[in-house]
Amino acid sequence: MEQLERKPIVEQCNGCGNIEEDKCRIWTTPAAKWRMGKCPSATHVKIEVKGTEQKIRVGQQKQKKK
Ligand code: SF4
Repeated sequence: MEQLERKPIVEQCNGCGNIEEDKCRIWTTPAAKWRMGKCPSATHVKIEVKGTEQKIRVGQQKQKKK
């Protein structure tokens, strides 16, 4: 029987739906997933869209609609 060693989840995993008994059920080494950015399997992380937000901010000053 082969048994993969599962490393503990990292801080960023908190809130993720893939945590099972304090271990990730998808990745054996969660820390490696976060080292390169966001974990691709995280259920609790919103993907930030960059670029559009600044344009929206300009419009916020004109929010006085009748
Ligand atoms: S899926 Fe990603 S964020 Fe979720 S527990 Fe596993 S490593 Fe952490």
